[in-house]
Amino acid sequence: MAYPRITIDTEKLRHNVKAVMKLATANHLTVAGVTKGFSANPEIAKAYVDGGVTYLADSRIQNLKKLKDLDIPKLMLRLPMISEADDMVKYADISLNSEVETVKALNKAAEKINKMHDIILMVDLGDLREGYFHEEDLFEAIEEILNFKWIKIRGLGVNLTCYGGVIPNERILQRLVAIATSVEKRFNINLEIISGGNSSTIHLLEGRLPEGINNLRMGEALLMGTEAAYGNRIEGTDDSVFTLEAQVIEVKEKPSVPTEEIGRDAFGKVPTFIDRGVRKRILCAIGKQDMDLDTLKPMDQGLIILGGSSDHLILDGSDSEIEYKVGDIVSFKMHYVSMLRIMTSEYVEKKII
Ligand SMILES: *Cc1c(COP(=O)(O)O)cnc(C)c1O
Repeated sequence: MAYPRITIDTEKLRHNVKAVMKLATANHLTVAGVTKGFSANPEIAKAYVDGGVTYLADSRIQNLKKLKDLDIPKLMLRLPMISEADDMVKYADISLNSEVETVKALNKAAEKINKMHDIILMVDLGDLREGYFHEEDLFEAIEEILNFKWIKIRGLGVNLTCYGGVIPNERILQRLVAIATSVEKRFNINLEIISGGNSSTIHLLEGRLPEGINNLRMGEALLMGTEAAYGNRIEGTDDSVFTLEAQVIEVKEKPSVPTEEIGRDAFGKVPTFIDRGVRKRILCAIGKQDMDLDTLKPMDQGLIILGGSSDHLILDGSDSEIEYKVGDIVSFKMHYVSMLRIMTSEYVEKKII
């Protein structure tokens, strides 16, 4: 058996997708199942499709390429680079956009292969990452884009709680709907998709979601079963679709604070320590290169994560009821960021069940 290893339970994942889809459908929403959290592994993405998502979505074109054999529309989440326009029109059916120059390049690429390319224009409603911040700029862009023969404007979208941490509320999303309505009137077009954000919009689905929002793009809600604004569990979901296992490579009693002068650690930061006296320290063979320490959670609640370096994880095992020894396996649950990194690390074995 190879370690470290992450196990992905597709049965649990399908179950989560169904629970979220039930909630989404009750709120008249289509769902783009976001695959970037697991590097768009097609076997895992199949659980999304089986669970009933409407689209598969990813932020990298290499990932969408991996999904080409799954018969479901693909959505590109990150604004395309002009340099990837050819692949974009080939592997994505829809892309999120906010620059006319890029859309122009997509139009040209789409013409080359005789395939219409759909776009969702992004509106920035305060999170300050992508999208048109001023309505007039959006109107101006649409006027130009309507001249592109191989591009169809499918709708508008917003992204929140990503850079600025802005939590979606009724007022913000109502603005998106209002902008969409004025675009439809002004240009006499129909905007079919009004995409109201990601897993952080879920908390509004108890009757506070403005009418007109009809799509969400979600990764965390499906994979972790949590809504992303406050981290609450979505009813009927499982938090252990992903389990990490690492092998113990050293167990020794050591003081909890270094006894010599302290300089910078392997990451260039001066570390600080809590003095818990002499403790049982357990080293595992996995490190910061493979995962995010702050969002990993040992299944054994007696274990404390002390820290780590690129290739080591250091645990305090003094309070555990288990007598860990070299060769033992320690299991962890994780949050989104850890999962993302673990799934991307070529050093971690992936086991899909
Ligand atoms: C990653 C991403 C999502 C999904 O976010 P979750 O919090 O995992 O639901 C949605 N939209 C865009 C533009 C993204 O980049």
